[in-house]
Amino acid sequence: MSGLRGDARTRALGALLAQSLSDLGPLYTKLGQILSTRADLFPPELVEQLAWLQDDCAPSRGEYVLGRVRAALGVPLDSVFVEFGIAPVACASVAQVHRAVSRDGRVLAVKVIKENVAKQLERDLKLLERLLRGLQHVLPALREFRVHAHFVEIANLLKPQADLATEAANQSELRERLLGHPFIRIPAVLSEYSSSDVLVMEFVGGIRGKDFEQVRVAKSVLARRFQHAIYSMLYSHGIFHADPHPGNVFFSEHGQISFVDFGLVGRLSEDEKWALSSFYFACSRKDWPRACERFLCYFVDGVERVTARRAQFFESFSRVLRRHLDLERNRWSTVAFVRDGQEVLRNFGARYTSRFSQVALAFLTGEGFLSQIDPAIDIWENARVFTDRASPYMSDAVRDRFDVEFAEKQPGSKALQERAGQVLVAPTHLDRYYFPSQYPLFVKRAHGCRFQDQDGTDYIDLSSGYGPHLLGYGHPAITNAVREALDAGAVNAIGSEAEVALAEAIAAALPSCEKVVLSNSGTEAALQAIRLCRAACRKERVAKFEGHYHGFSDHGLVSSWFRFSGPAAAPSAIAMPGVHRQAVADTLVLPYGQQAAFSLIEEHADSLACVLCEPLQSALARCDASFLRELRKLCSNLSIPLVFDEVVSGFRVAYGGMQNSLGIVPDLTVLGKVIGGGLPCGAVAGRRELIDLCKSSSDPFIDFEQKAFLGGTMSGNSLTCAAGVGMLQHLARHPEVYERLERLTEKLTLGLRGAAAERAVDCFVRGYRSIFSLTFAHRESRSVREQHSASNYKANIGLAYYMRRFGVYMPELHTMLLNAAHDDAAIDCVIEAFSRSLEEMTRDGFFTI
Ligand code: PLP
Repeated sequence: MSGLRGDARTRALGALLAQSLSDLGPLYTKLGQILSTRADLFPPELVEQLAWLQDDCAPSRGEYVLGRVRAALGVPLDSVFVEFGIAPVACASVAQVHRAVSRDGRVLAVKVIKENVAKQLERDLKLLERLLRGLQHVLPALREFRVHAHFVEIANLLKPQADLATEAANQSELRERLLGHPFIRIPAVLSEYSSSDVLVMEFVGGIRGKDFEQVRVAKSVLARRFQHAIYSMLYSHGIFHADPHPGNVFFSEHGQISFVDFGLVGRLSEDEKWALSSFYFACSRKDWPRACERFLCYFVDGVERVTARRAQFFESFSRVLRRHLDLERNRWSTVAFVRDGQEVLRNFGARYTSRFSQVALAFLTGEGFLSQIDPAIDIWENARVFTDRASPYMSDAVRDRFDVEFAEKQPGSKALQERAGQVLVAPTHLDRYYFPSQYPLFVKRAHGCRFQDQDGTDYIDLSSGYGPHLLGYGHPAITNAVREALDAGAVNAIGSEAEVALAEAIAAALPSCEKVVLSNSGTEAALQAIRLCRAACRKERVAKFEGHYHGFSDHGLVSSWFRFSGPAAAPSAIAMPGVHRQAVADTLVLPYGQQAAFSLIEEHADSLACVLCEPLQSALARCDASFLRELRKLCSNLSIPLVFDEVVSGFRVAYGGMQNSLGIVPDLTVLGKVIGGGLPCGAVAGRRELIDLCKSSSDPFIDFEQKAFLGGTMSGNSLTCAAGVGMLQHLARHPEVYERLERLTEKLTLGLRGAAAERAVDCFVRGYRSIFSLTFAHRESRSVREQHSASNYKANIGLAYYMRRFGVYMPELHTMLLNAAHDDAAIDCVIEAFSRSLEEMTRDGFFTI
């Protein structure tokens, strides 16, 4: 070999290694296969040779197989199966698969770990690990290339191969997430018959991956679907089949894709999903410096070595990005991109993180396959179709059309938008944070459930001004009351009867409420509730639920709906710039609806001032009554005040709030929106001893030492309170309003679901007593985190603009709210507008995969 050039020598070494591993037996074959997926660690010539390793292996003894299966079932085979094929239908290095038929007629696959494999694997891995650990002390080259650390990483991938319980758990998790997907299938695991060395699951039949020619849909569609499937697992769910080669894929005749063999499953954390999306987002906008920054931050090991020559690194890495993601993007190849990127990193003494390598592996393998299915596929363009779902931007063509339409049909709103741009930003909703409104409307007048914009166009409104206008715009019960209060001088900072009357109405409606403090918004009220609880408990930390927005205060914003972090069962607190870092650190973020929340509360009970919770998750129109009951019990046992944020649900879902419907009594309730009858209002209401913590003791020294301060110049002003009293009195006298709202919400959600089903658009609609949410996803989200990652925001935002063409105004992303002025005719119009919008959106490619 001494006469060979470097590359050829590596290739020859690879061939020798492949042969030796293959001779050593199935375990080493598997190890070689895994090594062959690590192009980030080894030279390409070596990887290429290892990739030739085949796992065409002899099966284990029938007697052994039957013994293992019997042990897993815990009963004789024939009490579960009427048929069991002793000859395996597939046989790999670590496991083999048998076909069986259960007593209830289901065709099943029974995967069995081969004889002695688990023990042998454990022993060999331990031996090799010890050997490498020892050798690196005497061989500096091993240390320099971190061979021992890489081995441990690979061993971690190899170990679960012989543990079918891990595989079963991964498979079940992926299946659960993809259940109901229009074309991705994951076979169900029969866990009652499975063990660590036997996995019983649905048998996947159909067309083998390599026979994709037999599938009866266009190859271009099939390839795009396959790419979409890989991206869905990665970006949306953060758990993915890391080895999607043709042998692990089956197709149905109509192009459904089934994945099998979940021995190699990768995961991306919320932060990594965010990083990958933000990296691609920067690339798609050709913002190379930002893309480099993001890549460096999350996907490079050895950043410190790069930092020393940062400018040079940015230049070299940008060149790779520009070449692959711009100049040659119609010839996109992950293999080439990964290789070139790796070359740059190597020159700087760095490398990809193992997570990125795993993602790249899934891309590489999947891409190899989809390029076979459709050699002409534009992978990059297709990737953009997917990643754009998480952004507010419509396609260039659609955007241009809306730009023209907006300018032609809404010149008044457009002129105001331009004027406003000079002097206004958030929170006016003209230039909203995160998902800016692209075509803001300006309202000239509003009445009932409708408004007219600056240009004289009428719309049915589904926003209810984000909630306050429960009786519709300009209801006489409110306008008359406000007019009177105005005529009477519109006082503030001096008491008025209206203030007392509003507090009385609130106290009478809420079983939890003895006293009230009024303020000007839900944000203020949430802040005040936290302050009272801190003063009561003399503790600092606030527990809140992930995805629950409590206004724009520091605590209110932590891990609300913009971004999430940490595991779903134990989220990390996260917030944007400007939020006090200590407030973030002082927030315990809990998963709504999960038992894990209770353990977290117990664990941190000593430091918690309160638990703050939106009983009805308004973003999802979803409530978990038994979870809330348990939460109430736990907070009482631990003497932690429970605060319900009913800013949205208060007086909207029932006279009072969710607590009235559920029969659960919180310690404090935060209110806003409806109680102000359309004028700015907030309130914290609850137990006397808690609220009285802000009542003076008449001793200034005691006040300062023991009492909380809650103030506000406009709090309890007579105009707002008159409007609030007008609203609550009307609702108290007309309980039928709630029945009507419930009926109309039901009618609307059914109508919207029907329209989506008719047009075969994956759309999930959920409604609860005048509150409804709509997501373009294949299944219901159980948490805001899930909704955030699985939905097609581009379509959600686009829908708002299409609906306007048909005379319906819906806020681009906010939960939608009906009001008492909506009637059957208005609901019919909304359903019709939705159906026609979906038709146009389908034509404009919003749902194309
Ligand atoms: N709490 C919840 C549940 C909310 O939805 C909101 C606002 O939408 C708030 C608090 C904050 O209320 P405001 O916008 O009146 O400050």
